[in-house]
Amino acid sequence: MSTLEANIHKATAYLQRFRGARLGHFIGGKAEGGTGRRTVQNVSPVDGSVLNELACGDERDVDAAATAARNAFPAWRSKSGEERRAILHRVADAIEARREEIAFIECMDSGQPLRFMSGAALRGAENFRFYADRAPGAAEGLSLPVSEHMNYTVRQPIGPVAVITPWNTPFMLSTWKIAPALAAGCTVVHKPAEWSPLTAMLLAEIMTGAGVPPGVVNLVNGIGEEAGKMLTEHPAIRATAFIGESKTGSHIMSQGAPTLKRVHLELGGKNPVVVFEDADLDRALDAAVFMIYSLNGERCTSSSRLLLQRSIYDRFVERIVGRIGSLKVGHPLDPATDVGPLIHPRHLDKVLGYFKLARDEGVNIRAGGARVDSLEPGYYVQPTLFANATNAMRVAREEIFGPVLTVIPFADEAEALALANDTAYGLTAYIWTSDLGRALRVAHRVDAGMVWVNSENNRHLPTPFGGMKASGIGRDGGDYSFDFYMETKNICLAHGTHRVPKLGA
Ligand code: NAD
Repeated sequence: MSTLEANIHKATAYLQRFRGARLGHFIGGKAEGGTGRRTVQNVSPVDGSVLNELACGDERDVDAAATAARNAFPAWRSKSGEERRAILHRVADAIEARREEIAFIECMDSGQPLRFMSGAALRGAENFRFYADRAPGAAEGLSLPVSEHMNYTVRQPIGPVAVITPWNTPFMLSTWKIAPALAAGCTVVHKPAEWSPLTAMLLAEIMTGAGVPPGVVNLVNGIGEEAGKMLTEHPAIRATAFIGESKTGSHIMSQGAPTLKRVHLELGGKNPVVVFEDADLDRALDAAVFMIYSLNGERCTSSSRLLLQRSIYDRFVERIVGRIGSLKVGHPLDPATDVGPLIHPRHLDKVLGYFKLARDEGVNIRAGGARVDSLEPGYYVQPTLFANATNAMRVAREEIFGPVLTVIPFADEAEALALANDTAYGLTAYIWTSDLGRALRVAHRVDAGMVWVNSENNRHLPTPFGGMKASGIGRDGGDYSFDFYMETKNICLAHGTHRVPKLGA
């Protein structure tokens, strides 16, 4: 039996419980069928087969989950940071124990290749450990003595929060939001993406099994514009932590406006990777290829816009074409696969639409540009390179969210910076140069929440993560997450010596 066959065999066993069944919600510490009668089919991108029926949460389901989160909040916030730390470490242990199951189910549900997903559960566990260790200090603030008064600040959890996540790396992104929320003392209602709901249910079960009390984390499945919308409008929910498209982010803001919800938005990107002629071109090539063709290009931080200095343009493009020729497109459970299928037929149509658009816009399609017919009915597309594009073209301006790289030439530093910033987005930027002064000049002037110099996206959990412009509002990572999940309260104590104004005395 080949490794792929063995992996498919294992995945089939892991998926057995979901196959053909109706996946409901997880409310108040237990699985719930819910009141919403409607279901949608969750299909596997690998072959279009139906993995399960997904319950579409309705108003009563959302209300039950939000009420459970509200009722569980007082006891959870009252636990000491040390108690929360112990529970969250147990969650991390339990994630690690089920890492293979999580990885295999994620591959079959989302189409992400195993070579990237095999570490996804461990990244998720790491998120829980990192925030577990921060839980005891989460409430700490500053002391600010001012003459006859002593001020000090404390932080307290904001309350029940909504966590709404996308389908591209669903398990990891869910932990990225839920771990700091729980460490802060918030309770959670999670609404995962309807195209990849399975590992969210595993996470809910794992957290509860590890000792997260009933109602502290709840899960409502369903359609974004229905269950997701109702959740963002629910009066018991104090804040919405959202990862997804920029357009959805603006809906989330307006839906939350009547109840004055705090929002944290991690949105899309059209991230520039700027390669100057003096860069270490071998390393720049490795990084540029990795950052667009890994994770099927379904990655918010992908280097989807390659800005190349003219003097190195032809040779660099040639080398990318060579690399693309060696990428293996195939079954996500094959350990050799670099690029798996896109998540859903609708997303496939969107990406194929950009192939057509590129032709209409007169782009030189140097590689790919079509569906992989031999792998139908799976939703596979060829890794694609659009060369000689201009920044005005839609393929250079819109987030394609597939394994598609758009290359644009530039003459000098000023033009590179102008092109990098000529976009609605501002999530990440990657700069490749051996000139330190230039690296600093561009890094400081580029509109991006995160800039990597001579590096692909290397994440360190204490550092801030988030975007500018249409890429988002707010930062995650380190204590930045607590700025969102917590309220800062100032307490002012008088020495008893200052003059209190007298009225009517
Ligand atoms: P999406 O916006 O379509 O959906 C995201 C989630 O929002 C899903 O759970 C969906 O059901 C829900 N939703 C949809 N409409 C809603 C509404 N009106 N109210 C409440 N919830 C609603 O995004 P997607 O297609 O699932 O994910 C891809 C997008 O996510 C890309 O744009 C990508 O760049 C972005 N993303 C950003 C980051 C980041 O950190 N910045 C990380 C990963 C993905």
